[in-house]
Amino acid sequence: MDIEDKLLKIYFRELKDYKPFTPEEEYEYFVEYKKTGDHALREKIILHNQRLVIMVAKKYFRLRGISKLDILSEGVSGMLKAIDHFKPEKHFKFSTYAYFWIKAYIINFIDKNARIVKIPIYILDFRVKVMNYIDEFFHEHERKPTTKEIAKQFDMEEEKFLHQLNIVQNEYSMSFKIDNDSEDFINYLTLSRDSASFYEEEDRKDKSEYVSMMISSLKPKIKQAISLRFGLDGHAFRTLDEVGTIMSLSKERVRQIINKGVGIIQSNLNIEKERHMEELSSLIRDVPDFPKKGIVFKDITTLLKDPAGFKKAIDAMKDVLANVEYDKLASIESRGFIFGGALSYLLDKPFIPVRKKGKLPAETISESYSLEYGEDTLEMHKDAINKGDRFLIIDDLLATGGTVGAVKKMIEKNGASVVGALFLVELKFLEARKKLDNLEIFTIIEY
Ligand code: AMP
Repeated sequence: MDIEDKLLKIYFRELKDYKPFTPEEEYEYFVEYKKTGDHALREKIILHNQRLVIMVAKKYFRLRGISKLDILSEGVSGMLKAIDHFKPEKHFKFSTYAYFWIKAYIINFIDKNARIVKIPIYILDFRVKVMNYIDEFFHEHERKPTTKEIAKQFDMEEEKFLHQLNIVQNEYSMSFKIDNDSEDFINYLTLSRDSASFYEEEDRKDKSEYVSMMISSLKPKIKQAISLRFGLDGHAFRTLDEVGTIMSLSKERVRQIINKGVGIIQSNLNIEKERHMEELSSLIRDVPDFPKKGIVFKDITTLLKDPAGFKKAIDAMKDVLANVEYDKLASIESRGFIFGGALSYLLDKPFIPVRKKGKLPAETISESYSLEYGEDTLEMHKDAINKGDRFLIIDDLLATGGTVGAVKKMIEKNGASVVGALFLVELKFLEARKKLDNLEIFTIIEY
């Protein structure tokens, strides 16, 4: 037994005395904790729910090259998040809620640390199930099952089983992000079953209840498309064509709507975002009274001079765009160029500069606007915009929203559209979003 296993053993032993709460206890503890914020109560909630963390974490212990303690500690972070966000008055079971967060944190962690090959989450789940089954079988029969026996257990032809297993042969990763198919994410939420878990039965009904809860705030059309597609109405899964027929929409349109919904759910989950915020905001320096008294300037040069930090910033910005469809990136002078340039290169999209008055050499279009500190005019080359182009605007920071609003106006006046604007930093207290309510805004760090 290695040191890690020894530590885990001690940990498990220590926790033996903390039995899961009854539903009544759970409700009372949470109501009291939310009312008083009492730390001792929080501790108690944590301890009595550790078994749940272990139960979820254990399933991932076999993944090669990833420390069990790390997995466990990610699971604990997931549970802490769940404790903070749980609303007892909704009478939703904490275990269901926390289960989701624990798993999400663990998966996210593995995703970051496993090798690069992206494999849909359901395939990874499948691998974990296979490993668990082999383990159970071994304990029962004192030999490993044959491939045929395993395939049978999973109701598969041997050939298909081997194929499926092959995909996950050595290196694996899974994604919480949308890689090839955004539907993996919903499949994960609705379909994945966890074997050998005493939550299995509950899991089945709770997952769809959970997804229903998550989509409840979406626009009716998106909600309907997701419900129909994934059978949240109790019906079996439907194809995109079937959903399209019901909703009188094209298959392609249904796909777009579902992608959008999934994107919103994911950004609501915010796991990624919180991580990025913490890491990146520590690299941004506050310079008080620059360029004018009273303004706290967010200086990104400290982030730019840290290659790992800059890379992280660009990657985070790129990830946010995974579900957005656009033709051109309009980057705003001058700090917007830094991010826009890197993103245009990475995403293979035209880089369209938006510059201060008098800088662009050929024929321009222009728009004036007021800034957090002063007034300015921006210009774009006239021939950089074609009718029907879908633009995404990039800048380093969203303050009052005056700049991006002007760029949007300029683009729209010239027959193109703006599908969104992406910033590394948002000064939330300036409430730019209120003013820009018809613009989709993506940000990585908020102050
Ligand atoms: P706004 O038009 O008010 O959203 O201002 C956005 C533009 O001004 C961005 O290009 C920012 O680079 C810059 N900016 C405004 N306020 C700040 C600030 N407090 N720190 C750094 N840059 C700022």
